[in-house]
Amino acid sequence: MRPHEFKLAGCAPGTKQRLWMELDNSSQEGLRIPLLVARGVRDGAVLAMTANIHGDEYEGVGAIFEFFDALDVAAMTGSVIAVPVANPPAYAAIARTSPLDGANLARVFPGKAGGTASEAIAHAIDTAVIGQASFFIDLHSAGVRYLMPTMAGFYTEDPRSRAAAEAFGAPVIWGHPVIPPGRTLSSCKDHGVPFLYTEATGAGRIKREDAEIFGRGLRNLARHLGILASAMEPSAPPVELYGDGNTDMGLETSKDGFFVPTVNFLEPVVKGTLVGKLVDLDGSLLEEYRAPVDGVVAMLRMTPSVRAGDPLFLFATMVEQKS
Ligand SMILES: [Zn+2]
Repeated sequence: MRPHEFKLAGCAPGTKQRLWMELDNSSQEGLRIPLLVARGVRDGAVLAMTANIHGDEYEGVGAIFEFFDALDVAAMTGSVIAVPVANPPAYAAIARTSPLDGANLARVFPGKAGGTASEAIAHAIDTAVIGQASFFIDLHSAGVRYLMPTMAGFYTEDPRSRAAAEAFGAPVIWGHPVIPPGRTLSSCKDHGVPFLYTEATGAGRIKREDAEIFGRGLRNLARHLGILASAMEPSAPPVELYGDGNTDMGLETSKDGFFVPTVNFLEPVVKGTLVGKLVDLDGSLLEEYRAPVDGVVAMLRMTPSVRAGDPLFLFATMVEQKS
């Protein structure tokens, strides 16, 4: 099946299907991505989801398989469209980016039919998945090289995004005032589809707690949208962060070297605090890094071997909790 051939309305009510989309592309013959579809007996919201946009992020893959297997279409009002492994070439390489074109799939949306492998994947997800959704969630994690909180990220300019983040029930929620281009989320904005994304521990494996948080989160999101009628599963009030998740709240290295952080993950910092350094392979100092803002360390590079341009830190502001 080609991406433009998939129409949710063409799937019979009360059915589940495991499909594959074949993607025309300039990088390699035979590129295809899996597409799981569950259409409830009654029409309602369409919850679309992707995981493994970055090939070394696995929590969302496992969560989608478990969530999809448990769906009872006879009890559903609405539908689920899921791409559990969005980036099979990067998945096979256990890599964040695609070995076929070197691209970061989260920078090439909305993509291009017949383009490189990453562009073709982005185009398929943009048209067949996001284009038919009434809500979209992109399941990311810190991958092999980074450390991030297990969290739901939302768009502060859309109350539907925030409400969904609260329903998901992650221990941390992170509000972003700006959605940079090239992402699944920027495609959602273009389509007028509300959205959410997640992060988790990563490190090339799936922590049991993260699997449980993602599983509960997907079920709660489907309940929040009216697709499932069962009761919401409770969660503790989240820690709330605010910030750009973008360059002015982050630091990257300008050289290759050995990275030595001098702060801990989620540690509060003030503007100017020394947060890490880079040394050459003979141990001599190359660069020092200082916090660009007052906040907390919300993402930290864990693999010491870095290349020029690699992100090292993201900072966020802690939001006062409602009492
Ligand atoms: Zn990711």
